[in-house]
Amino acid sequence: MARFAMVIDTKKCVGCMDCVVACKTENRVPEGFNRDWITTEARGKFPSVQMEIRSERCNHCDNPPCVHCCPTGASHVHTLGGVVLVHHELCIGCKACISACPYGVRTYVDRERFYFPNTPIPYNVDELRGIEGVVQKCTFCSNRLKAGEEPACVEVCPPSCRVFGDLNDPESEVWQMIRSRNAFQLLPDKGTDPSVFYIR
Ligand code: SF4
Ligand code: SF4
Ligand code: SF4
Repeated sequence: MARFAMVIDTKKCVGCMDCVVACKTENRVPEGFNRDWITTEARGKFPSVQMEIRSERCNHCDNPPCVHCCPTGASHVHTLGGVVLVHHELCIGCKACISACPYGVRTYVDRERFYFPNTPIPYNVDELRGIEGVVQKCTFCSNRLKAGEEPACVEVCPPSCRVFGDLNDPESEVWQMIRSRNAFQLLPDKGTDPSVFYIR
């Protein structure tokens, strides 16, 4: 089975947040919520200081505690490249997955609230319309993946700092980048084995 993964080169990222806007637009993410965001981290001591700009989201972990703890099976690993998704019709809003995720990438949607509810969007991803009391997060743009396209944040990035592909394919660009550029995962000590990798 394919394992979809994303590699993000933090040295190329300029913090423009196009990826954040693209995600909200593509997935009609409700007002007040995000599925991806930009984190900045300063390292070193003056005058030798480095600023890392990092685009973060659900890591679609290979060993996802959010799935293991879900009492209803709402959180699950999809056969489509092993992405971690939420069946909103099965979600009872218990928030166990929010507690279990060490990355803080899940949010609870208490009520329906859209910016422009009737605006057409690509693939008409309307998974949260009319649904309240569920947990939401990044899907790696699963609708786009089903159509053979890359996630919107990958496509829109002006300096092309991110690469998406199959980690189980040694010929893929992601596989080659991870090995040749010393890519790292966030919080590796948690044992979750994220599918989002970073280069610094
Ligand atoms: Fe960085 Fe690309 Fe996102 Fe802009 S679109 S913030 S360059 S990852
Ligand atoms: Fe689950 Fe969190 Fe990993 Fe995403 S980052 S798969 S929500 S544990
Ligand atoms: Fe599962 Fe929903 Fe509970 Fe999360 S909030 S653990 S997805 S039932």
